[in-house]
Amino acid sequence: MKVTVDRSKCTALGVCEAMAPNVFEVSEEGELVLLTETPGDDVIEEVRAAVEGCPTEALRLVAE
Ligand code: SF4
Repeated sequence: MKVTVDRSKCTALGVCEAMAPNVFEVSEEGELVLLTETPGDDVIEEVRAAVEGCPTEALRLVAE
């Protein structure tokens, strides 16, 4: 699975970082950084929760 972010929707508040800190990071400049685009099985449930929890629906999990 691949995670994508629609930067036109992301407000960089960091809900996703709180839910999956190994995959998402909000930089000091206030920009969301994807630490990996292809999260492994060990964190995929966290990523699903982040996708569900993103308040602006900016995140997607798509099949590669
Ligand atoms: S939760 Fe959504 S809006 Fe917030 S930083 Fe993550 S992708 Fe951006």
